[in-house]
Formats: sequence, structure tokens, C-alpha cells
Amino acid sequence: MKNTKELRTWLDDMNLAHPLVIAGPCSAETEEQVLKIAHELKDSDVNYFRAGIWKPRTRPGNFEGVGALGLNWLKKVKEETGMKTCTEVANAAHVKLALENDVDLLWIGARSTVSPFIMQEIADALKGTDKIVLVKNPVNPDLALWLGGIERLYTAGIKNLGAIHRGFSTYEKSKYRNIPEWQLAIEFQNRFPDLPLICDPSHITGDREMIQDVSQRALDLNFDGLMIETHFDPENAWSDAAQQVTPTKLKSIMEELKIKKTTDTDSSYRESLENLRAQINVVDDQLIDLLGKRMKTADKIGELKKDKNVAILQSRRWNEILGNMILEGKSRGLSEEFVLRMFKAIHQESINHQEKIINH
Ligand code: PEP
Ligand code: MN
Repeated sequence: MKNTKELRTWLDDMNLAHPLVIAGPCSAETEEQVLKIAHELKDSDVNYFRAGIWKPRTRPGNFEGVGALGLNWLKKVKEETGMKTCTEVANAAHVKLALENDVDLLWIGARSTVSPFIMQEIADALKGTDKIVLVKNPVNPDLALWLGGIERLYTAGIKNLGAIHRGFSTYEKSKYRNIPEWQLAIEFQNRFPDLPLICDPSHITGDREMIQDVSQRALDLNFDGLMIETHFDPENAWSDAAQQVTPTKLKSIMEELKIKKTTDTDSSYRESLENLRAQINVVDDQLIDLLGKRMKTADKIGELKKDKNVAILQSRRWNEILGNMILEGKSRGLSEEFVLRMFKAIHQESINHQEKIINH
């Protein structure tokens, strides 16, 4: 996959003045629900109306979608509102039905991207079509699986492609439903700079209150669009109730977003600058997070030392760390002087932490 520019023709041809917007309910529940939401979204920035027909639920026993019946409802959405439609496909049978029913864009869910067998099955079923296909990241933070899914489609001749970043599952407790791991999305952009990248703040946050912020961060990081779950009665939605927003809220989210323009050379400079700064913000967040984790571990060591009545300062261990870090730093273009100063500061903070513990 060399020329990724050709893969975004479908998006460039739309000539949008704003990011691509995909919105609609997590699941199609009833014909009335689908049509009511679609009509409320009709006069907005929404480019594609989404609704899950086949719902991949992590545990059985939840609402698993209305199935092929919902495809008729999507047809009606198109007839009555003129909006294009999209849904998730997870196997060859879904692809066949979606193609027969003229769904405009298909996406592949996070639980499918993890399986090369499923990805290959879907790619084979799509051979010879010109559908737009968006690949969600796999549930686990594995860049190769995500890229691999896209490559399978490309190799099958699918030339209208894109990716959706929906965050990654984690065992660690977090304020997100699926942690964004922005650096992975940045890495993805570095590999395929022109491939359209859409952010799904609904599945990242799991919480409608956080959607504005995550959407803004995605745009700052140069994402091409947003997929936002939308329902007229979010609290009573049959799936993902906590993260859906009303059509009115969606419109206000879009209005509040600071959308970058690309009209002249000056603004292209500013755009690059803002993009790089947004990347720096991501790294800084990680630095603080890691330092916090390091101090927590130092606290635990403090407890152990207190228990056994051992001295805080262990010079041999400390010199070993410094030596290693100077070498590691060199291989990443960091000067010895900087690494020394930084680690002295970190070490001092650890000592302060441990002193507090031991003297308490
Ligand atoms: C969805 O978009 O409704 C969905 C099931 O998402 P994901 O595959 O990201 O979990
Ligand atoms: Mn959902």
C-alpha cells in the first residue's frame, strides 16, 4: 500500500467544509425510532446516518440487533431524508445483504478487526465492489492488526477506505470506556498519512459528557471526521445508553468544535503547528501519568524498606539506573547532561516520597 491518497478520493470528492460526520443510534431498535432520529438529523452536518443492525455484544443475553429487517428501515431513511446510510458488517452474509440493500458505507467493528479470518472473509465478500469501508481499531492496542485489516481490504481491490479510532479495552480502571491511546492513532497516521481517520468519541468515552472534549482533541490531532452515537431518548436506548446524545446536543457539539480551515499557506503553517502541539500534549499527558506511576511504585518500595528498616538511599542501584538511562537516552538523541539532570530530579522526588512514608 503505497499511494494512500487514492484511498481518500471518496472523502475529498465530498468537498466538505467541516469534518465528516457519521451519526445515528448505536442500534436500530424499531422503524419509528430509526426514522425519528433520521428526521431530526436531516438538517445538520451529518453526512452518513449510522445504525447497528447486527450488534456484536461482548456477553450474550443483551439486545443483539434487529437483523436484516433493519436494512429496510435504512432504505427508508435514504428515501425520506436523502441522507446516506451506513452499518456494521461482521461476516460475508452481512456484506451480501448490505450490498443488496444499497447501504452506502460499511464499517467493520472492533471485535471483527481482531480476527484475520473474519477480515479476510469480509474482504473476499467485498471483492469487485466500490463500497466505502471503514475499519475500526481492534479492541486491543495492536497497530499491526489494524493495519493488517486495511491491507486485506486493499489487496482485495477495495479502494475507498478509512479507519475509525474507537479506543482500546484495558484492565486498568480509567475514566474512559476504551482508553484512547492517542499515540497509537498518531502512529497510524504516520504509517498511512492520507488514509481518512475518523474518531468515535462515543465508544472511547462511554459517557456523553466527555464527547465534546474527545471530539475536539481528535480534530486537533488532524482526524478527518467523527462518528457520534445519537438517539432521541438516549437514556432509554436498548444499547449504549450512557454514551448517546440527542440530535440537538449533536448539533451544539458541532457548533462548539473549533474546526481548522485550510485556505492559505499561512493557515497551513498554523495547522501543522497545532497538530504538532496536540501531539506534544498527548506525550506530556503520558509523561505525567508515567511519573505518577513511578512515584507510586517508589512508595511501595518505601513501605518495604520501612518494614525491614533499610536505608532509603541505595547508591549502587542508583548508579546502575543512571548509567543505563544515559545509554538509552543517547540512542534517542538525548544529551547526557539532560538525562542526568532529569533523573536527579526524579530520584529526588522518589526520596522525598519514601522519606514521608518512613517518617510517618
Ligand atoms: C458500534 O459502533 O456500535 C460498535 C459496536 O462499536 P465497536 O465495534 O467500536 O465496539
Ligand atoms: Mn454502540
